[in-house]
Amino acid sequence: MLIYLNGDWLDPEDAKVSVLDRAFLFGDGVYETLRTYDRNIVAIWDHLDRLRNSANGLGIDVPDPSHLVKMIEKGVDEIGDDDVYIRIIVTRGNPPFTMKVERNVPNIVMLFERVSELRGKINYEEGVKVSLSRIRKIPPESFDPRIKSIGQPDRIMARLEMEPDDYEAIMLTVKGLVAEGTMSTIFMVKNGILITPSLETGILDGITRKYVIKLAREKGIKVEERFVEVKELFECDEIFLTHTSGGIVPVGIFENGRKMVGEVTKSILKDFKDFVISEGR
Ligand code: PLP
Repeated sequence: MLIYLNGDWLDPEDAKVSVLDRAFLFGDGVYETLRTYDRNIVAIWDHLDRLRNSANGLGIDVPDPSHLVKMIEKGVDEIGDDDVYIRIIVTRGNPPFTMKVERNVPNIVMLFERVSELRGKINYEEGVKVSLSRIRKIPPESFDPRIKSIGQPDRIMARLEMEPDDYEAIMLTVKGLVAEGTMSTIFMVKNGILITPSLETGILDGITRKYVIKLAREKGIKVEERFVEVKELFECDEIFLTHTSGGIVPVGIFENGRKMVGEVTKSILKDFKDFVISEGR
């Protein structure tokens, strides 16, 4: 792993921020996860736009995106692998120590690692095991789900409940609608139609989600973005998850029931990489 910290390039053991950093004290910071496929940094501007929007939402300053692009390219080159995982973290920086919120000089951290080191175990053929969480998502009235914030205790609580072989836990809204995973968007297929919770459900505006919807429509697959009831997850034909580092992750077991890795999932999985390389601006 290679770390960028406020202009320096460091090994992980040498990369240190102060205990007065607001992300350490209050979870006061935002982040983005990017990746490369075959040395292409995909959807880089989607991620940098979302980072800026997340930071704006919390009143945190982000550096000039062209500087971030240069640093991302440098880190990716240094790792020298086809598939590189990149995490950008922007915190509000150090003082004040109290809860008082001020604009501040942010701390900028980037982590670079081979995707295979992190996500080597995904079973794309048979699909992963997923369960429903009892933890409800923090509602949009309390926190804007489009902000990719470091401090997200609902997701940690949901992950605490997971069984060791669960890949993901699906969280519901406080109203009991299907929302999203702790780190992924959920899609299901019923009678050939691709269905995913709408953004107004109160979920992250996933970047993989955006490209999957576009790809599916180009393939002539009907897509519905709408409120999704829990029972639909039990009754559907296929389920898959999407997130940047894992891409399209088929679900083979949902709540201890088998799901097939069916034709729609396979077709999207097959074409996603080339599609996002060419379409991800
Ligand atoms: N939903 C949540 C809560 C997430 O944390 C993530 C990724 O971190 C996603 C969905 C997937 O988003 P993306 O496809 O932009 O990686």
